Amino acid sequence: MKKNHLPRMPTPGIALPSDSSYLDLRRVFWASGVCPKDNNDAIGLAVVRTTVNVTFVQFVVNVYQQTINQIKLSMGITQITQYDIHPPENPDIEIKNPRLIGGSSQIPNVFQSGLPSTFYPTFYDINLHISENPLSHSDIPQYFVNGTVVITLKDVENDTDTITFNALRLQNLTATMSNDGINITKGPYAIDANEGIYAVKLDSKLVAGVEYKLHLSYTTVTNNGFRGFYTSHYKTAKRHLDAYTISTQFEPRYARTLFPCFDEPRFRAQFMFTVTHPKNMKAVSNMPALPSSVEGNEGEMTVTEFEPTPPIPSYTVALAIGDFESSEARFTEKGTLIQIHGRREYMRDTEMALNYAEGCLDLLQNLFHVEYPLSKLDLTGITKFTGAMENIGNVFVSEKLIFLNNRYADKSAYDNALVTIAHEFSHQWFGNIVTPIDWSQAFMSEGFATFMSYYIMNELKNDTNDLNLKFAMNPQRQGMEVDSFPTHPVEVVEKNLFEHHAIFDPIIYGKACSIFNMVRGVVGDRIFFNALQKYLEDNKNGHAHWKKLTAAIQNGVINSDLEKINFTELLEGWITTPGYPVIKVSRNGTHYTLKAEPFRLIKDGVVDSRWPLGKSWPVPIWFRRSSNLSKVEFLIMPPNAEITFNVKNETDLIFVNTENYGFYRVHYETPSLAQTTTQAIRNDTTGHLAGARLRTCLDLFPLFYAGHIDSAQFFNTLELFRKDSVTTYHAILSVEIQKMLQRIGDTPGYGDLKKYLKGFLSDLVHNGIPNSATTKFSQKILNDIECAEGKLLCKGTALQMFVEGVYKVCKGVQELVDCVIVPIADRERVYCEAAKSGKKYYDYITRHYVASQNPFEKVRLLQGIACTKDSETVETLFNTITTPNDDIHDTNRAAVFNVLFANNPSTVKKMFIAKASEIADAFPDLFGEFATTALTARDDVDEVPEFLKNNADLATKYEYIFRKLQNTNKFELRFKKDLLPTLKPTNVTVARHKKDFKSVSCGPFHVC
Ligand SMILES: [Zn+2]
Repeated sequence: MKKNHLPRMPTPGIALPSDSSYLDLRRVFWASGVCPKDNNDAIGLAVVRTTVNVTFVQFVVNVYQQTINQIKLSMGITQITQYDIHPPENPDIEIKNPRLIGGSSQIPNVFQSGLPSTFYPTFYDINLHISENPLSHSDIPQYFVNGTVVITLKDVENDTDTITFNALRLQNLTATMSNDGINITKGPYAIDANEGIYAVKLDSKLVAGVEYKLHLSYTTVTNNGFRGFYTSHYKTAKRHLDAYTISTQFEPRYARTLFPCFDEPRFRAQFMFTVTHPKNMKAVSNMPALPSSVEGNEGEMTVTEFEPTPPIPSYTVALAIGDFESSEARFTEKGTLIQIHGRREYMRDTEMALNYAEGCLDLLQNLFHVEYPLSKLDLTGITKFTGAMENIGNVFVSEKLIFLNNRYADKSAYDNALVTIAHEFSHQWFGNIVTPIDWSQAFMSEGFATFMSYYIMNELKNDTNDLNLKFAMNPQRQGMEVDSFPTHPVEVVEKNLFEHHAIFDPIIYGKACSIFNMVRGVVGDRIFFNALQKYLEDNKNGHAHWKKLTAAIQNGVINSDLEKINFTELLEGWITTPGYPVIKVSRNGTHYTLKAEPFRLIKDGVVDSRWPLGKSWPVPIWFRRSSNLSKVEFLIMPPNAEITFNVKNETDLIFVNTENYGFYRVHYETPSLAQTTTQAIRNDTTGHLAGARLRTCLDLFPLFYAGHIDSAQFFNTLELFRKDSVTTYHAILSVEIQKMLQRIGDTPGYGDLKKYLKGFLSDLVHNGIPNSATTKFSQKILNDIECAEGKLLCKGTALQMFVEGVYKVCKGVQELVDCVIVPIADRERVYCEAAKSGKKYYDYITRHYVASQNPFEKVRLLQGIACTKDSETVETLFNTITTPNDDIHDTNRAAVFNVLFANNPSTVKKMFIAKASEIADAFPDLFGEFATTALTARDDVDEVPEFLKNNADLATKYEYIFRKLQNTNKFELRFKKDLLPTLKPTNVTVARHKKDFKSVSCGPFHVC
């Protein structure tokens, strides 16, 4: 994508036409006599908004008195019951330090930090001397760090004589004060060595208004993991020499492992690095480097000095040292320099990522009035990293995500690159400019970065029409899937560091993003984006809290007809409560009733006592009537309310959550789901019900699993999608059918059902648009199922592809990625089948895995290797995965473990249980993923409790993981016991395209 092809954003009133006009309908109600004119507590409020082409009616009902349960409004709503009104809580406290605050000084008292707020750091002068440790015994060189830090402290409280700070795994820690007449009498001493909390005691009390300087010196070493200050290893492409990168990953609490600091997001300070490092390596950081000089040891070391950062939180501080080259320089319209750093051989593959980066930053800089604060924004490729980290001024990112070349990256890799860059660049505003006040507000960064990444994708691809469909199919779907079990709210105060890593899940990303989008639906784009703008301006260089966001939105609706909505109340239920509702829709004659109840996949889930279930939500309801499809009606259904209203006649149907803004499912009781879906599909010529059709598609399987609809209703509705001409939703159905088939597994007696489901998939492929992405996706799933079932045809084809497309054509070539002619999407499967087929090809693939330097192909080869069924090899591989070493990057361990388990479940489970404690010690951060893979039982719910009985320590430490695991297992058992026996597609036609289904196999080099 070239720069001049990228669409430009208008500033900043996005998407919504500016000529929206509002008509206060209160007068209508007053005139009709249903509302007492003088009683503002009991009015109905309605808004009519006219946009360019569509008449968009938002009908907002906000009732403030519980006693009012019969308001007859001229818009057709006849009854509202039981609205519990709570006066807005006000737990807010005032924060003293003005630098903590942007705009509003009111933030809630939810700090869970180990540090007191008796003073604030303003400046860190950090000096690091980094050299190879000659005493290291590891294969990977360990680097030795000799550090000194001078921390300037301000805003000291009068009566303090103790300075508490963070330091973790730092040796030889000593401290002095540079202020005359103040001496350290004790320390540094550990308050909590495990959490990294230290203190020094002074001989006199500190005085408010005076600036103090604390000097600390220490030593530490690099680690081989991927957090803190760690080493990555790779071999150079040309001469196969060993090369290393040392880099930081500080989020959430690892800055304290490289230098003593105040390691909480609420402490924003300036950081300045002076780094002495081996001369053959280049150092990059948040800020540009100053001209460097050579020092001592016959010129073996280089000193790189960086400009000081603006005030930033410690978790976004970054430093990387390696054999880096830099790409060409690009400049955004506003003059910000963009560059990519990474290993030499990838510099020719930076073109697309640079285009994406430039497009994203141009868009963001034009979108927000709050300026990006630095002169540059780099991307640095790190070999061992999995994802990406939004370090201010220098985003660290997995090499796989930014170096793109058609030899090894397919379309999904390119899309991933764009999403990743959009996400991390959005964090420069949501996270870096406005930083979570504490980790309970992490969703304010992740939710918005997710939201903005979809928004940016749409803008850059000039694809603005279906943003909501994309939200519904991706973050909303993922959020709902995880939130279907009793889980944690988006605002979560975690118990320990392990839980902290575990909660960065689709709740923090997908659900938070969907809640923000729901608010966008309520207020419209103009108010929503203006409020975001205001929120960023007010809190610039300050801190994020959801109450500040609601304040900005509340402010944005003043003098509009939406001002009666209490946005704090509206958001509180969604942000502080786990779960989400299902809206029950039923009708009796012309009378419709809407009710909300919690949606649960299992009734007897293991719950976290911190967040009791059963709380209900104020639910924004969007709906359309078949008698007037172009009109969207809107109201807020109060918690525990039941809403009834009339429709024109018996054939007038209503469709709920048609815009998919709502984070809830919809269950049509009467008339049935199938009846409503039929209408949605038939009436879709105008496009007004596209969202309603998507909703029924998204909700179909979950409604069946949760017991809202029975098997007959399920199949009848599913059948409606078989020949649907709109294929957008086929991908969702394909994935759901695949999951259902996996759940059925090899349970005897379900041959017909499996045949039916595969026939259905085959029909989706058949009726889809030929060669479209969706059709290819469904075809791939069908193929995977065939292969998983070990159909000879598939095995033969994959093996043939391996021989013809890899083995024969890659003779004498060292790097497979340079010669393989198998389509990228098929390579993993092809390597897998070859590895399974016997020693000859297994050895061949292993050899190439060891030699390969391409991170894309290396992972594919590794996944292939893990398909082996040879028991001796399985054991060796298991030990390689679960023991610290340099043969597999830590970031790939969990994925490879998955494949090994999938191919050898009972053996791997046994080995895992025997070695669990040892694995937890070696890989505390990965243990949860290993356990989830190995202990997800399809038919035994007692397995996990049994395991926990024998591993009490692990049970406490990874409580959150095991709770999730037990709930999943309960659901799987319920599926087998209660749901599966009812799944009999007796009245529906079975596999109509048998012939075509067979012919799914295809020639060696076609994507099939
Ligand atoms: Zn993020």
